[in-house]
Amino acid sequence: MYRLVDFTSKQPVQAGDLVFAGVDSPWEVEMNIDIIKRSINIDHFMSTPPCLSKYLPLMPVNAPVNFVSLKEHATPLVKSKYVGQRLGLDLYFKVEGKNPTGSFKDRGSAVEMTVAKELGAKAVVLASTGNMAASCACYAAAANMPCFVIVPEGVPLSKLAQVISFGGQIVQVKGSYNDAANLAYSIAKEKGFYLAGDYAFRVEGQKTAAFEMVDQLLYQAPEVVVVPMGCGTNMAAYAKGFKEYHQLGLVDKPPTLVGVQAQGARAVVNSYEKKAAGIEPLKTCDTLASAIAVPDPVDGVKALAAIYDTGGEAGAVSDQEILAAQYLLSREEGLFVETASAATVAYLMKTRERGQFTGKKVVCVLSGDGLKEPSVVLNAAIKPPTIDPCEQAFNQWYDSDILTDKARVPTSFEIFEDTDEGAYNGFAQI
Ligand SMILES: *Cc1c(COP(=O)(O)O)cnc(C)c1O
Repeated sequence: MYRLVDFTSKQPVQAGDLVFAGVDSPWEVEMNIDIIKRSINIDHFMSTPPCLSKYLPLMPVNAPVNFVSLKEHATPLVKSKYVGQRLGLDLYFKVEGKNPTGSFKDRGSAVEMTVAKELGAKAVVLASTGNMAASCACYAAAANMPCFVIVPEGVPLSKLAQVISFGGQIVQVKGSYNDAANLAYSIAKEKGFYLAGDYAFRVEGQKTAAFEMVDQLLYQAPEVVVVPMGCGTNMAAYAKGFKEYHQLGLVDKPPTLVGVQAQGARAVVNSYEKKAAGIEPLKTCDTLASAIAVPDPVDGVKALAAIYDTGGEAGAVSDQEILAAQYLLSREEGLFVETASAATVAYLMKTRERGQFTGKKVVCVLSGDGLKEPSVVLNAAIKPPTIDPCEQAFNQWYDSDILTDKARVPTSFEIFEDTDEGAYNGFAQI
């Protein structure tokens, strides 16, 4: 039903263990679309409401009974209330923060843990500093499998609270994220554990977000999809999902894919600007959008191919622009999202004068929930005052200068147009 190939050469590859990671080039799962076509009843498929298990026939899962699932619903596809209108776009948001652990990673973790289970893994191991760890620990718990998480020293434990609660065993290493990733790789090889993370099988779960989006738009694909990029794996997953739906005859034309990175972590954007197919790793990266702070994107080549193949583009936004977009999404759309997710909207706002997407049906992938990193908001916020529980004290605060100056909510795009560094201080203005 499927085979593993090297992404660059398209030659079949084989793992002698539970490590499905290429050394020089990433691996990919190639589904046999003809077999899938014959195994599903398209009319029935199209009339089934979207949810993760609907797409089992398109996943590399041998027996559906093994599927490690938390009964995932489709995440909302919300039409923009204000921002789209002002940008002149038919804008939608795919709210991926509504997945079980608060990010899209859960789609991939469900498939990875299922594969690990089917292959008889005794444990999984991965390197991460955030959402990947929370998601894998959750699904490993659901699969009743031990989960080892390797993180670089100095990662705030608050980030790992979800991992701890799901019973993930965390080890900190003296070194960087790359050192942690190398160690996870050797542990998996040495101990015969399943290596989880941004590898071939993860894409097979994450591609379902593309299927879902098409289903939710009643089999009309959007014209443009904007995806935040860290390792580039999710971008690759969207490309693969739209391509497979196209091969199944469920969409006419796969959408144009636009990838967004933070200025301080722009390895893929650098390659795009040089029209290169490969990635030059950055020495360091610097952005507050921690979920996309990746100096050496393991699936960068896949992300670039996705962008080139669909006539898309890659661009970068500053932390300032990300915070402004995060604030705007909260204030004007009622969507509190992670900074990495807000990068997508920041890019549309930044480039709106070029007008390249005007009038188009555009979906922004809001990859994670704002509650994942409350410190971003709290660090910028003014501490709420403590008052005596009487109306007089409230009125004293209500009538004070502090409130009149600080509480004025900037109107819509004002915050974006104010380009002076430091002029915008986001949630502090609430
Ligand atoms: C992992 C993650 C990303 C980046 O996705 P990649 O697949 O690494 O490109 C973006 N946003 C959130 C919230 C994430 O957790």
